Amino acid sequence: KNTYQFFTEALNEQAIRRAQIEGALRKAIEQKEFVLNYQPQVDIQTGRLVGLEALLRWHSPIGHISPNEFIPIAEKTGCIVPIGEWVLKEACRQIKEWEKQGFPNVKVSVNVSARQFKDPEFILKVKTIIESYKVNPQYLEIEITETVMLNVEESLQVIDALKKLGVRMAIDDFGTGYSSLNLISNIEFDTLKIDKSLIDHVIDSQRNWSLMKAVISVGNSLSTHVIIEGIELQKQMELLKDYAVIGQGYYYSRPLPPDELVRHWDQRNALWKANH
Ligand code: C2E
Ligand code: MG
Ligand code: MG
Repeated sequence: KNTYQFFTEALNEQAIRRAQIEGALRKAIEQKEFVLNYQPQVDIQTGRLVGLEALLRWHSPIGHISPNEFIPIAEKTGCIVPIGEWVLKEACRQIKEWEKQGFPNVKVSVNVSARQFKDPEFILKVKTIIESYKVNPQYLEIEITETVMLNVEESLQVIDALKKLGVRMAIDDFGTGYSSLNLISNIEFDTLKIDKSLIDHVIDSQRNWSLMKAVISVGNSLSTHVIIEGIELQKQMELLKDYAVIGQGYYYSRPLPPDELVRHWDQRNALWKANH
């Protein structure tokens, strides 16, 4: 009304793809098309495995679609609520399974989106899942980004309730968005994850490196774990060796299906033992 718009073929194609994804997403849980892959989080100084991040993969009937494309659509349609619940259950099932196999006894972090966090039943769902899978809540970490916490007051209550359940909390993608110091001063979180965009330029930019050191020291002085996301190069890892930080990135390993992950780490540990 009172405006005009250009309708292009590209827009049309985009709308069709979106509608296709929306339709397929609705059936994806029922059709058992989702799996979780796990990416190692490694103590940079010792090389020890200290955690895993669960990352959603969709074997969709309409070809390869990355989480960066389908998660925002699932959020808009509300599908993310049942999907997120499936992710929590599957991660807890896997934690228990690994416990039985004697591997690897580290925390598993799960990404939770804003829409899930706002669900009034979220806390109850987490509690019920932990209880029904009988997992030690200390082995479960919930990753949230700043957008999840747009309403700080409300979010603080949810975070508080989650902490009371015994699960850990991580702030994801820190260094993008507002990266508010007010926010991190108000929240009792266990892990600060520094966004990949910062490590990407530490080698060629002195200013980035200074900033990285400052953010690490913020995390260290709050006594939280600091995870550097997206380490791809040995050079990046070496720069960080003098700091008490955890690394996550392709340099250590891509996200892997659970059985591959176990093989990869068993091999790595055997090599490590042979060399020490
Ligand atoms: P994120 O939580 O920040 O996860 C890290 C992303 O960086 C993952 O992408 C991981 O595969 C990728 N990554 C890790 N190391 C490297 C590296 O060295 N280089 C590069 N280029 N990338 C690296 P992925 O799996 O495609 O997921 C993208 C985003 O989708 C996640 O970002 C997260 O925000 C969202 N996501 C994934 N799984 C879930 C889920 O189960 N629930 C929700 N709500 N969101 C999810
Ligand atoms: Mg994450
Ligand atoms: Mg991240």
